[in-house]
Amino acid sequence: MQKLRTIKGTHDILPRDIYKWQKIEAVLREIFLSYAYSEVRTPVFEKTSLFSRGVGEFSDIVRKEMYTFEDKGGESLTLRPELTASVVRSYIQHHYNQEAPLHKLWYLGPLFRQERPQAGRQRQFHQFGIELIGSPHPESDAEAIDVTCNIYRKLGLKNWKLYINSIGSIDSRKEYMKILRNDLKPHIDNLCQSCQERIDGNILRLFDCKNPQCATIMQEHAPSILDHLSKEDAEHFEQVKLLLDANGITYIVDPTMVRGLDYYTRTTFEIKGTALGAQDALCGGGRYDNLISDLDGPDTPAVGFAAGMERLIIAMDAEALFEDELNTVNLYIAPMNSHCLKAVLPLAQRLREKGFSVYVELLRRSVKAMMRDANRQQARWVTVIGDHELESKTMQLKNMNENKKIDMVWDKVDTVL
Ligand code: AMP
Repeated sequence: MQKLRTIKGTHDILPRDIYKWQKIEAVLREIFLSYAYSEVRTPVFEKTSLFSRGVGEFSDIVRKEMYTFEDKGGESLTLRPELTASVVRSYIQHHYNQEAPLHKLWYLGPLFRQERPQAGRQRQFHQFGIELIGSPHPESDAEAIDVTCNIYRKLGLKNWKLYINSIGSIDSRKEYMKILRNDLKPHIDNLCQSCQERIDGNILRLFDCKNPQCATIMQEHAPSILDHLSKEDAEHFEQVKLLLDANGITYIVDPTMVRGLDYYTRTTFEIKGTALGAQDALCGGGRYDNLISDLDGPDTPAVGFAAGMERLIIAMDAEALFEDELNTVNLYIAPMNSHCLKAVLPLAQRLREKGFSVYVELLRRSVKAMMRDANRQQARWVTVIGDHELESKTMQLKNMNENKKIDMVWDKVDTVL
């Protein structure tokens, strides 16, 4: 019989690693709150048309990577491959625009893409991100970028760089794509098969091709999109840069960064981990002024970003940023017999109510085995409760980090934990 295992490209987040997630999640909540963003949670599956219309029929995600299935009623549903489309659907469905002109939203959750799994690339992965909906102004682009950078800074991550670009509004981009097509047509025979196929569709994707020959052709013959922005788009981008400068954020302008999703307009940005391997994108985002109206909502400009949790953990592990996380158990109580166990339960209860984590041994082990277990649990303090301690209502607390011992009456234990 076949062994039951996780599906290829999906992973359990094991109890021994969960503190990493919780540490990041706590920082996310703190940062998002400090900028007054509210959390939104949407279902993990949606109508397929939300993504085919929202993400774009020609994007790799929609063409190749979606987990799509028919439910029993014959409706085509898809496990969400990204969250912007879902958040926008929620914005439209619940008429957020009637409550306030600007909405600052954040999210965190699992996404699903049928990609070829490798280090840093999974089929179920997690993203956190924001959608700042309602403002066309460059200060919202700058705020979205600022929030992103602050998260990595607050987490202590050092090895990353911010890249920014503007891909213009739809009209100036259409013009640019025509020019790009003209300039590349003489070199079409030297491009790889998929670039040849894309040249008449979403030609901007040629910038993402990893084939060295295609990369050289693009470098030598592709004009810079920044030289083909409309006056308004160029001014918008200038303002974004000035605001980032004013906020002390360093960035690299990369005119080849066009991003894989079809809905972006004007500002795009990415943060790359400089110590990561092939999958080095920590986060990506940008402005999407047409998506909400494309999905039949009110004409509303917006900007946002999405960042991968798993890659962030890989990057933080590489910089040893989790190493000081010890001692989640404040007190490990080792009762020597069933009377002692009964007697310590109200004490454990009192301490838990005060917010301490208390581990009462449950396997009736020997003292030696209990001590070994307390060590494994990385408990900060350990106490063995025998008949003597029970009678005198005292205990000896052993500090497992500093190897010191303190005698204490039961009622006062909370003062040292
Ligand atoms: P995207 O939605 O493709 O712009 O991706 C935004 C971020 O999500 C990336 O920068 C990665 O950090 C992360 N990400 C995207 N796809 C995957 C994947 N298959 N596995 C793990 N992380 C991913």
